Amino acid sequence: MEVGHYIAGKEVAGTSGRFADIYNPATGEVQGRVALASTAEVRAAVEVAREAQIGWGLTNPQRRARVMMKFVALLHRDMDKLAEALSREHGKTIPDAKGDVIRGLEVAEFCIGAPHMMKGEYTEGAGPGIDMYSIRQPLGVAAGITPFNFPAMIPMWKFCTAIAAGNSFILKPSERNPSVPMMLAELMKEAGLPDGVLNVVNGDKESVDAILDDPDIMAVGFVGSTAIAEYVYTRGTANGKRVQCFGGAKNHMIIMPDADIDQAVDALIGAGYGAAGERCMAVSVVVPVGEETANRLVEKLAPRVEALKIAPYSAGDDVDFGPLITKQAMERVRGLVDGGVEEGASLVVDGRDFKLQGYENGYFMGGCLFDNVTKDMEIYKQEIFGPVLSVVRAATYEEAIDLPMSHEYGNGTAIFTRDGDTARDFVSRINIGMVGVNVPIPVPLAYHTFGGWKRSAFGDLNQHGPDGFKFYTRTKTVTTRWPSGVKEGAQFTIPTME
Ligand code: NAD
Repeated sequence: MEVGHYIAGKEVAGTSGRFADIYNPATGEVQGRVALASTAEVRAAVEVAREAQIGWGLTNPQRRARVMMKFVALLHRDMDKLAEALSREHGKTIPDAKGDVIRGLEVAEFCIGAPHMMKGEYTEGAGPGIDMYSIRQPLGVAAGITPFNFPAMIPMWKFCTAIAAGNSFILKPSERNPSVPMMLAELMKEAGLPDGVLNVVNGDKESVDAILDDPDIMAVGFVGSTAIAEYVYTRGTANGKRVQCFGGAKNHMIIMPDADIDQAVDALIGAGYGAAGERCMAVSVVVPVGEETANRLVEKLAPRVEALKIAPYSAGDDVDFGPLITKQAMERVRGLVDGGVEEGASLVVDGRDFKLQGYENGYFMGGCLFDNVTKDMEIYKQEIFGPVLSVVRAATYEEAIDLPMSHEYGNGTAIFTRDGDTARDFVSRINIGMVGVNVPIPVPLAYHTFGGWKRSAFGDLNQHGPDGFKFYTRTKTVTTRWPSGVKEGAQFTIPTME
C-alpha cells in the first residue's frame, strides 16, 4: 500500500522521493508507506486551493451546507470501512474507531447549519440615514495539521468547519495513519465538493513548515503535542497568520469521600485506559480525598486494571484496548513507568511485561496503576500518553483542587461527588478548559466548543461549534448612508452619535 496526496479531487503520487513507513501496531510489521511532501508540493497544492476557493466562496451557504448533509450520509454508509481502516493503522478497537468517526461526523452535522453561523448583524438607523451591518466572510485558504490519535475526528473538526464557511483547505494529517483522511477527502468529493476545495498533503516537518511559511495560507489549526503546538503557533503567528494550536494534557479526576465509588471506578477504567490512554482527554491522575477514599479506590481499581482485555482490534468488540501507536511510543511509556518506580511511587499493577501470544512484536503494554505518586515525580509532571494511571492522595478538597490548578496543562478535569456545593465551587474555581461533574471525559459536543487552557492551547478561540466558525471567518462591518444626498458639510472631528 502506498499513500500519496489528495490534490484537485484525486490521489496523486508524491514526487519528493521521501516516504515514511506505516506500521501495523498490533504486529509491528510495515504495511505500507506514505509520501512526505516537499515544500514545492505544498506550494502546488496551495495554488490549487486558492483557485478553487474563489468559486466555492461565492457559492451560497445553503448549497455548501448540502455538501455537508450528503457527506454525513456517506460517512454512515461507509462507517464499517472507515472504522476498519482506522483500527488497522491506529490499533484502537472497532467500537472506539467508530466513535472517532462519529465525533467528527457530529461536527459535519453542525456545519449543515453553516448558513445560520454565517449570518451577520444589522443596525437600522445607527445615525441620520445611516445603517450599519457586519458580515462574515471566509478567509481564503486555511490549513489543518492533525495528530495520530483521532485520525477521523480531528481532521473533520477542522475541514468541515472551514469548508462550510467558504474556505478551501489543506489538511496535513499525521504520517502515522494517513489512510482515513484520504478516504474522507474522497467522500467529500462524492458529496459534491468541487475539486481543489479540500486537499490532503501528507508529510512531516518539511510540509508543516511549508504551510506555516506559505503567504497564501491565512489560518492554521493545529492539534498535537505541546512542544510542536508552541512551535507552530510561534512560527505561524510570526508570519502573520491566524493560528490556533491545541496541545498535550494531564487530566485529573478528583474523588470526594461522598462519591459513589463503584461509579467512579467504572468511569476511571474507561477514561484512564480506553484507547491505551492515547487520548488528550484521558484521565491520567486520580486524586482521592481522604485516606479511606484512597484505600477503597485502590482496592477496587487494582483488580479491574489486572483484568483489562488487551488485544488487536480484530480479536472482537469486547477488547478494552489495543497496542500503542509505535515502538518508540511503547518504549517511552515503559521508560516513564521505570522512572516512576525509581522515584518511589508504588506500582500496584505492573503492565510493563505484557506479551500477547502471536503478537510478540506488536506495541502492546498492559495497564499500569501507580499509588502514592507525588507532585515532584516525572510521571506526574509529564503527559505519559499510555495506559498508566497515577493515584495522588490528598488529605482535603483544597489540597486536591490545588493539584490541577497548579499543573502546567489545563485541558480537562473532573470531580466525582454527590455534593452540589463542592461541585459548584470546583466548576467555578478550576483553571481548566473542559470540566466534568461525575463525567470522566467531558468532551464538549459539536455545537459547543473544545479547547483547553494554560499550556494545553495556544491562541484564543476553541475548536468547532460557534468558535470554529469565528476562527475560519473574518468580520467586515459596513456603514451606509441613504439617501446618499444627505449633506452634513465637512467634518474634522471623529464622528460620534452625540
Ligand atoms: P505530534 O505533535 O507528534 O504531531 C502532531 C502533528 O505535528 C502531526 O501532523 C505531525 O506530523 C506534526 N509534527 C510532528 N513533529 C513535528 C515537528 N518537529 N515540526 C513540525 N510538525 C511536526 O502529536 P501526536 O503524537 O501525533 O499526537 C499526540 C499529542 O496530541 C498528545 O500530546 C495529545 O495530548 C495531543 N492531542 C491534543 C488534543 C487537544 O485537542 N488538545 C487532541 C488530540 C491530541
